[in-house]
Amino acid sequence: MAAISLRAVRKRYGRGAKATPVIHGVDAEIADGEFLVIVGPSGCGKSTLLRMVAGLEEISGGEIAIGGRVVNEMAPSERDIAMVFQNYALYPHMSVFDNMAYGLRIAGLPIAEIRQRVDKAARILELGALLQRRPRELSGGQRQRVAMGRAIVRQPQVFLFDEPLSNLDAKLRAQTRLEIQKLHAELRVTSLFVTHDQVEAMTLAHRMIVMNAGRIEQIGTPEEVYRRP
Ligand code: ADP
Ligand code: ADP
Repeated sequence: MAAISLRAVRKRYGRGAKATPVIHGVDAEIADGEFLVIVGPSGCGKSTLLRMVAGLEEISGGEIAIGGRVVNEMAPSERDIAMVFQNYALYPHMSVFDNMAYGLRIAGLPIAEIRQRVDKAARILELGALLQRRPRELSGGQRQRVAMGRAIVRQPQVFLFDEPLSNLDAKLRAQTRLEIQKLHAELRVTSLFVTHDQVEAMTLAHRMIVMNAGRIEQIGTPEEVYRRP
């Protein structure tokens, strides 16, 4: 069974005569543990598609399923996903540990379990020595790792990345890209990563979807997509 399946997915914004179709029937299957990158020009519908997978946007037609369950039929609390955005807002008054633990405390997990999950995330992200610091005492790259840590500790079935690197300078972008690769190598969580940057797509993707104007133009490994005659 595919980890994520999209069948004839459509989206239009607005109603009646003013309705604007932006996704025109997208079909795709994402395998368990796969890292799939969705690439395409600004406005082609990448973010809309990702938000529909996250259940943050209503779908106008077709079906999206995660782990065999239809997204629209699940309560938000059952959606076992974590989304990583461009803008990582940390709680300034909380330590790194508390920033990562916050969502788990809200969810009522026992403290031993919280500590274990935060420690594991801190090890993977090399934040172990920084757990008692406040966000203002961290570099930009470290802050961003804390934000990723918050997503990891949820132990989601799926990671959704919405252009998480696009606001960073070139050095930090390259560094964070490597961290995301390392993260995936270690955890093997099924990931959907949206970008308009072909270098990111080529370096991160197991397979990629090339979108244009609300449709899939190509789907395949980076080699297949870029070396096609
Ligand atoms: P991308 O992520 O590829 O840049 P988007 O999914 O953000 O593309 O947008 C796809 C199209 O849908 C664009 O034409 C955009 O203007 C339109 N769009 C996005 N969000 C909304 C919205 N909330 N209401 C109306 N139109 C929207
Ligand atoms: P609360 O509203 O109690 O503060 P949360 O903000 O933790 O709860 O979560 C509200 C809903 O949003 C939950 O269903 C949760 O699964 C979802 N959610 C929270 N954070 C994320 C995230 N980073 N990615 C995807 N879904 C999230």
